[in-house]
Amino acid sequence: MARYTGPQCRLCRREGMKLYLKGDRCYSGKCAVDRKSYAPGAHGQARGKKVSEYGIQLREKQKTRRIYGILENQFRGYFEKAERQQGVAGENLLRLLERRLDNVVYRLGLGASRVEARQLVRHGHFSVNGRKVNIPSFLVRVGDVVEVREKSKESPRVKELIERAADRTPPAWIEYESAQARGRVVALPARDQIDVPVQEHLIVEFYSR
Ligand code: SF4
Repeated sequence: MARYTGPQCRLCRREGMKLYLKGDRCYSGKCAVDRKSYAPGAHGQARGKKVSEYGIQLREKQKTRRIYGILENQFRGYFEKAERQQGVAGENLLRLLERRLDNVVYRLGLGASRVEARQLVRHGHFSVNGRKVNIPSFLVRVGDVVEVREKSKESPRVKELIERAADRTPPAWIEYESAQARGRVVALPARDQIDVPVQEHLIVEFYSR
């Protein structure tokens, strides 16, 4: 599946907030949102004009896509799937995005950002229920065990991430055993366990136009 390959910081500046796409840099003084708090492009510093209802919904959808690193077609696919499920479509959508393997790896702290987690998954560093899975969009289910593969534990970067993950607390829907660098999905995430700054009802309204 294709992915965005342009500058990440530009996306945060476009949304006017930190989306934490670059890991450690996002917490440093080098963050572009802190240094240039205006939108990118020639008119980035122009006086703010009134944003339409459509514009607000569009920005919310774009922001969510960018947080999870997903292009439009795939994102729309998630929305359609969320709509078909029982319950609140917006919450279903966020739950689907959270279940992506690259996101779970990030939530476990085994990637400094979702971008890095995605790359590590792609490079085959993780298994699910004992089988190698290198598909970032793989959707985990309750009971699945996501684990760093044995030979990947020798990689210096993976080793460093495992050490860092030991000090982190993952969300309550995933249990982490730091000694084994292994996480188990114990439940599907509830909305209040998904800490993304998104008003998902605006995304539903955007696609329902
Ligand atoms: Fe966004 Fe991180 Fe770049 Fe800051 S450093 S603009 S939070 S990607």
